[in-house]
Amino acid sequence: MANFIEEIIEADLAHGRETEITTRFPPEPNGYLHIGHAKAICLNVGLARKYGGKCNLRFDDTNPVKEEDEYVQSIIEDARWLGWDGEIFFASDYFEVMYRAAVTLIERGKAYIDDISPEDMKKMRGTLTEPGVESKYRNRPVAESLALFEDMRAGKIADGALVLRAKIDMASPNINMRDPIIYRVLKARHHRQGDKWCVYPMYDFAHPIEDAVENISHSVCTLEFEDHRPLYDWVLRECGDMFPHPPHQYEFARLNIERMIMSKRYLKKLVDEGFVSGWDDPRMPTIAGLRRRGYTPASIREFCERIGVAKANSEVEVGQLESCIREELNATAPRAMAVLDPLELVLDNVPEDFCEKLDFEINQFEPDKGSRTIELTKHIFIERGDFEVVPPPKYKRLTPGGTVRLKSGYIIKCTGYDGTPENVERVHAEIIEGTRSGEDNSGIKVKGVIHWVNCKAVKAELRLYDYLLIADDTAPDFNDRLNPESLVVKHGYAEEYLASAKKGDSYQFMRQGYFCRDSKEDGLVFNRIVGLKDAYNKKK
Ligand code: ATP
Ligand code: MG
Repeated sequence: MANFIEEIIEADLAHGRETEITTRFPPEPNGYLHIGHAKAICLNVGLARKYGGKCNLRFDDTNPVKEEDEYVQSIIEDARWLGWDGEIFFASDYFEVMYRAAVTLIERGKAYIDDISPEDMKKMRGTLTEPGVESKYRNRPVAESLALFEDMRAGKIADGALVLRAKIDMASPNINMRDPIIYRVLKARHHRQGDKWCVYPMYDFAHPIEDAVENISHSVCTLEFEDHRPLYDWVLRECGDMFPHPPHQYEFARLNIERMIMSKRYLKKLVDEGFVSGWDDPRMPTIAGLRRRGYTPASIREFCERIGVAKANSEVEVGQLESCIREELNATAPRAMAVLDPLELVLDNVPEDFCEKLDFEINQFEPDKGSRTIELTKHIFIERGDFEVVPPPKYKRLTPGGTVRLKSGYIIKCTGYDGTPENVERVHAEIIEGTRSGEDNSGIKVKGVIHWVNCKAVKAELRLYDYLLIADDTAPDFNDRLNPESLVVKHGYAEEYLASAKKGDSYQFMRQGYFCRDSKEDGLVFNRIVGLKDAYNKKK
């Protein structure tokens, strides 16, 4: 089914209003992209692909103060990773066009220079119920405004001393139309333009011009810009023949996800204050963080597809994002074993050099991949939680005198343990002959199958993540919702086979979840991507 923007495009094509579809993704380079941006990228790229058009990546770099080249590079990398492959543009390359457009507006009596202070501007803007008050400079002669605007550009005016305002309607019910500022003086170095400019255009004025310069047919943005659309249309209309085929803006609902932060400003704060290790910390909802965590581009695109494009804001369950990667990895990830919280187990009825080859299926959903060989040795590690001296009711794992199956191996019977019930040091068990996995006709029934690693296992660091925000969403501020347990580090053992995992490779660790070898650390570090089941809805 077509979403509402597709319906608009199809009608425009059918009626010949548009012949070529061009969309754009216009990030401001003031931070790394997050999953909300992924939604905007998938939507814009998807529209371009569907209708044989193109999607530009345009840096909305009109505010010199907050922007950095590091962000530009990361945004290009992340957008490409998600599947975008169009051309790159910079709004700052259009500063000359914007300046000319502003001059045109002044010449037509549609803009004027004001020397109003920010405080007065606020006071005189009026409210939702009261009209604004006109500035005494509103009817300043055109020639005077033109001369002052030139002085602004020439660096003769101090920051904030003068502004250029659109002359629209101080009584408009839409506050955005009450003579908004369209240019300001700012003596700041621009990341690409250097010191060439000391006047900078405001977003609402710059954005429609950027779209028009690039012949954007459908300018898709988030709902908070709906009230700005009349200004978007006004700018292009009043500039007249400068932009003979003005683009149109359409709004869709922003993506919000439970327990995730979707604001670059706040994510930057987490980075700057060291709450996370960087923009690519695997807990971050950034594309870089999700990639390092082990998400694939396909899983993120699938998520964006599933949540769809709506006209009303809402919050998506975080479980929806997780199921996309879980389903993908369930079908594709090789299985392996790692023990997070190791407890030694000795098989007392085999010799010291016992080493039996067993078949371990790589992925039951990919039978073509077959199996690989694993070795059972006399000394192995099991998960500390898989042994209980005094088992709680319905416990299905190992207990003194009890039996359990070692994954892909034998049924074993526990014969005792070293240490005290509070501090078990080692478990003793015996292999039950004739119960080898796949060849077992002993008729013995066990309730549990546990994972294990042999004595050749390698040390591994396993990083378990929880959400950055605690569930309580009544707290007034994100600061009060930061989850102090969002990262738990385990020092465990992984099969020797995993020592050769490449950075970024993902596996299902039996009974523990999906893990991805960290792409930054040189040691053997695995990030848990998601658990095996949708634990989130259970926890709630
Ligand atoms: P932030 O508040 O995180 O800084 P932003 O909207 O200021 O986000 P921009 O760089 O201006 O970030 O965004 C580029 C594009 O991505 C815009 O078209 C914007 O509408 C879109 N976008 C940003 N956040 C979301 C979101 N949560 N869901 C969908 N689209 C988004
Ligand atoms: Mg923004």
